[in-house]
Amino acid sequence: MAYHYDDSNIFAKILRGEIPNDTVAENDHALAFRDISPKAPTHVLVIPKGKYVSFDDFSANASDAEIAGFMRLCAQVAASEGVSLDGGNGFRAITNAGSDGVQEVPHFHLHILGGRNMGPMLL
Ligand code: IMP
Repeated sequence: MAYHYDDSNIFAKILRGEIPNDTVAENDHALAFRDISPKAPTHVLVIPKGKYVSFDDFSANASDAEIAGFMRLCAQVAASEGVSLDGGNGFRAITNAGSDGVQEVPHFHLHILGGRNMGPMLL
């Protein structure tokens, strides 16, 4: 079954420039911006510029260039935020998918959280 992408989601509006965002970094394939309701000193969302609903949609259907561009931007953000293992104390990268994953915005995104000890994973 094909994934259904809803063009009215808030990250689609950010990508179209219809609502503002606090951009951290950008490349040809992805955009990184600060979460509007941060859960840690560093809380950056990284989204692909293409229309992918979720992690599984992106992983299955994005091109290798899109996947590489997305992952490189995640690493670039961790470094620029000072939380990468190259000089920092680390971070947590998480993605929520679908209803059981409690995904609020149906455009694939990775949360990069750091700047404090994130504690144990909730199960
Ligand atoms: P999800 O539950 O993984 O889909 O997380 C969606 C995230 O998007 C939440 O952490 C929200 O705080 C964040 N968010 C929602 N609207 C905006 C916005 O306009 N700018 C930045 N972050 C947003």
